[in-house]
Amino acid sequence: MTTTTPNAIEAVLSDLAGLDIITDPNQVAKLSQDYYHFSPVLQPQLQDKFGDVVVRPASEAEVLQVAQACVRYKVPLTVRGAGTGNYGQCIPLEGGVIVDMTKMTAIKWMKPGVVCVEAGAKLSVLDKQTRELGSGWEIRMAPSTYRTATIGGFIGGGSGGIGSVTYGQLRDRGNLLAVRVVTMEDEPRILDLRGDDVYKVAHAYGTNGIITELEIPLAPAYPWSDIIVNFPDFMSAARFGQALSDADGIIKKLVCICPDPIPQYFTALKSYIPTGKHSALLMISETCLEPLNEFVKEFGGEITYQKPAQDAGKGIALAEYTWNHTTLHARSVDPSITYLQTLFPDDKNLTLLEEMYHHYGDEVMFHLEFLRYGGTARPASLQLVRYTTEERLNEIIAHHESKGAYIFNPHTYLIEDGGMKMVDLAQLQFKEQVDPYGLLNPGKMRAWLERS
Ligand code: FAD
Repeated sequence: MTTTTPNAIEAVLSDLAGLDIITDPNQVAKLSQDYYHFSPVLQPQLQDKFGDVVVRPASEAEVLQVAQACVRYKVPLTVRGAGTGNYGQCIPLEGGVIVDMTKMTAIKWMKPGVVCVEAGAKLSVLDKQTRELGSGWEIRMAPSTYRTATIGGFIGGGSGGIGSVTYGQLRDRGNLLAVRVVTMEDEPRILDLRGDDVYKVAHAYGTNGIITELEIPLAPAYPWSDIIVNFPDFMSAARFGQALSDADGIIKKLVCICPDPIPQYFTALKSYIPTGKHSALLMISETCLEPLNEFVKEFGGEITYQKPAQDAGKGIALAEYTWNHTTLHARSVDPSITYLQTLFPDDKNLTLLEEMYHHYGDEVMFHLEFLRYGGTARPASLQLVRYTTEERLNEIIAHHESKGAYIFNPHTYLIEDGGMKMVDLAQLQFKEQVDPYGLLNPGKMRAWLERS
């Protein structure tokens, strides 16, 4: 446990005179938050956790200066992108300095298929720039929060999203090429990590380095069309989703299946999805609409909405109803709803999914997102759960696990207890080397807390 005294904060502030610093308690409180309130379990644990001050560095040299001051006075430092994480990843458990990276947004260089960018760049802006400057490239994947989320925050705390049906997840080799990291040693350094070394800091919640720059692979940009297909029953929609995700010839970015009643939470989409219908929300290359129509016919679906690619950026963006935005829309109607994150076993007949769907009825609503995992397309579920008690939530998790479904628990702020379920020795050893005083986002890495 680190301790933050008012004197130490004053000393840090005096070392950082001239930098962009926020001390107003209301603003600091706001910049201490993320979307942890999706979890009724995390809510009481995190609601009173705030930083002491926020620093907004404009360059890597300023990041180095902040790291140096925090190490000198042994003050905790928690990095933050846009604060859209949903398990309290960037909430400072022990106060201290919050480093807001959103002023560092420059593209350093770009060549066909690769871009090097500062960590605070918004994903939507980066995507637009790679399309325009790079003539026809786009980022491979983005969370549904792409409009506000930063690339550094996505790598530090995210996992995958729109695009994962084709490119897999962030942790798949090749989806992150290199990172530059500022350390928290007595004399902070800048390290360049490449190859498998990038996983020392990827999905580490900023506990073992401040990422200042990243090298990201790009994908060819297609003319994406947003499409809604409705089905009379959930399993037809789910089987359509699996078949479409498996279809190598159809170029796609998003295959999301929402069983009834979930679409009824989507106010702006209601006119396209009648009550009782089970929907597929898709992003498909416009060049593939004819073969898509054949799929829709085969599975008994009906297309009720189609937005041409030339209108991308105007009106409704279907992506903002998928991934965890599904949870966001449902919670805006019924705040008692929470969620789970589950990967189903490699079972092309969707047998387990069908069993679970009937088992839980209305209590657990199996919103599906298809992604490539281990080389095959599989359904992940971000189930909406009608929350009653923590005990019941744990029972539901245990039941899924007993059936072979893998739960990435979103009701914990500890890195290991979410998805990994085990200690990542490379991350721990790297932290011992680059953050010997345990000042970076303290309290989030179980391996560090329990090392002896
Ligand atoms: P933050 O929340 O600010 O930070 C995330 C973590 O990264 C924190 O631990 C922080 O300390 C660390 N971090 C931030 N910047 C740096 C840095 N420069 N160096 C080191 N560490 C850093 N996630 C997905 O993966 N896929 C989704 O589809 C998705 N959908 C979402 C939908 C909703 C409605 C919400 C609320 C969340 C969703 N998320 C999703 C979670 C989150 O939005 C994304 O992971 C997003 O990319 C986080 O970016 P951010 O800039 O907001 O990061």
